[in-house]
Amino acid sequence: MKKILMAVFAHPDDETFGPAGSLIHFAKTYEVYLVCATNGDRPERRGELLAAAKIMGIKRVDWLNFKDGSLCNNNYHKLAGKIEEKLRQYRPKIVMTFEPKGVSGHLDHVAVSLVTTFVVTKLKFVKQLLYFCELKRTIKLLKQNFGEYFIYVPPGYSRREADLVINTKKYWPRRLQAMACHKSQRGDSNRMVKTLTVLPKREHFLVIRTGFTDAPKLDHAAG
Ligand SMILES: [Zn+2]
Repeated sequence: MKKILMAVFAHPDDETFGPAGSLIHFAKTYEVYLVCATNGDRPERRGELLAAAKIMGIKRVDWLNFKDGSLCNNNYHKLAGKIEEKLRQYRPKIVMTFEPKGVSGHLDHVAVSLVTTFVVTKLKFVKQLLYFCELKRTIKLLKQNFGEYFIYVPPGYSRREADLVINTKKYWPRRLQAMACHKSQRGDSNRMVKTLTVLPKREHFLVIRTGFTDAPKLDHAAG
């Protein structure tokens, strides 16, 4: 039986515009499942994601059906409950999500990262949490190419901070095919391709080990 990796992202395109090469890579040795928290703001985005997922070798996409832009404090517990349900259903060894600043700073991304982390730390069967992150130079170039599109983009990471680097060069053509599936997001897709095409084909992750030890017990007797 293949090992299982579950990716948890916010919008239908986060996986394709983010760690697509790594998902293709993992799909060779893992059963890769994707949980998408929101539906995106247009009905056609479901079909676009399903087409892209197929190209990337993702076995199945599960939707949590939140509205795009709605992932705020008021929905934290509802979101946590739904993510926990999916994780218990598939029992992945590895979970992948955004780094805690949400890569682009989108608040839906931040919420998904925080809530996924909260849920994962409760589940012993998850052994690794992979935080997808972008390097500082990538963020700098993205800001140039996207202009005023983002309100605030956190600065990104240095290479030294990344615990895991995946060389995704050989998956670049498939990645381009997957990106082309997001037809309603063509503007973003073109800007991403313009950015990524000039950069080394590597994807970076922070690796959080989970599930190995119990949380330290507080000594209530002290003090
Ligand atoms: Zn997004």
